[in-house]
Amino acid sequence: MKMQISNDLRKIKKKILNGERLTRDEGITLFNCNEFAWLGSLADEVRKRMSDDLVYYNVNCHVNLTNICTARCKFCAFGRDEKSDGAYAMTIEQVINLINDALKDPNMSGLHIVSGLHPTWKFEDYLEIIKTIHEKFPELYIKGFTGVEITHFAKISGRSVENILTELIDAGLQAIAGGGAEILSDRVRNLLCPKKATAEEWLNVARTAHNLGLKTNASMLYGHIETIEERVDHLIKLRELQDETGGFQTFIPFPFLPKNTELGKNFKQTSMWDDLRTIAVSRLMLDNIKNIKAYWVMLTVPVAQVALNFGANDIDGTIHKETILHDAGASSPTNLAEDEIIKIIHEIGRVPAACDCNYNILRIIE
Ligand code: SF4
Repeated sequence: MKMQISNDLRKIKKKILNGERLTRDEGITLFNCNEFAWLGSLADEVRKRMSDDLVYYNVNCHVNLTNICTARCKFCAFGRDEKSDGAYAMTIEQVINLINDALKDPNMSGLHIVSGLHPTWKFEDYLEIIKTIHEKFPELYIKGFTGVEITHFAKISGRSVENILTELIDAGLQAIAGGGAEILSDRVRNLLCPKKATAEEWLNVARTAHNLGLKTNASMLYGHIETIEERVDHLIKLRELQDETGGFQTFIPFPFLPKNTELGKNFKQTSMWDDLRTIAVSRLMLDNIKNIKAYWVMLTVPVAQVALNFGANDIDGTIHKETILHDAGASSPTNLAEDEIIKIIHEIGRVPAACDCNYNILRIIE
């Protein structure tokens, strides 16, 4: 059996070194292999081929407009009912104050805005927030909303996804966030998050955005009820859409953080091995998405550093103040100073590159 697996891995390595695409079965084989160092070095080889030694990061501020959410996904510790303890909905003044506070860092260059699906806010309310931010802070890029939120806006307004996206682009939106993809499987979504966008609806937002020239990110939430086959199918769905549109900029694997979630009582947090193999297999399967993000908030800084040697080339950003994942028990800090991010990257012998939400390089720190 061991010999058989080794032969399979040798064949996979040869294909990767020849730049050939991996099949579904090969993706499953990689997830099931236990050759830790072999997998990491192969993914690192591909990372070098696709994106040299730069490690991208943002000096950014996360804005979570509200945690009140009608979807109440079983894996989420952030969403609340309107009357629950800790429920909040920011006013535009509070949003502006938060941004002004983040702007005490002179290098702060942009925003990442994702929120719950508020039961009474209209699409126009969200649109007005983007317009106001863009008018007040035209120098800041705005990456905002997930495929789930865009689908929600289309449903509550009775408009098409294309129409919603066109309005948001006109208001100042420059990229779409990668969240909400979870696992692109109807089986998983029906069990864990039946009240929000289906897999097809999430993919449709990405496709429509790409056709409008708006770049998006993609993610995968793993380490819960999904099977390895469903992880691989998820990666292949993204790869197929990327073949069609070329509009995904980065892929972000999110490990499920169980604390304070409905689902969490049955699950432990993923192991470092699972986190690193998922980064590596993602790098090897997604041969047409340039960037793989090691999201330090979920992985922790030390694991993110290793992930940068397992195929990742992006460590996300300073964030200013993270709340969504800390509600789910993330043990990492709620922000990192830019100096710390630079140190983390330099320590592993790589080159930090500050960029905007569309990977335009703002500074390279040799
Ligand atoms: S994951 Fe998003 S959509 Fe689901 S409950 Fe949390 S905030 Fe709402």
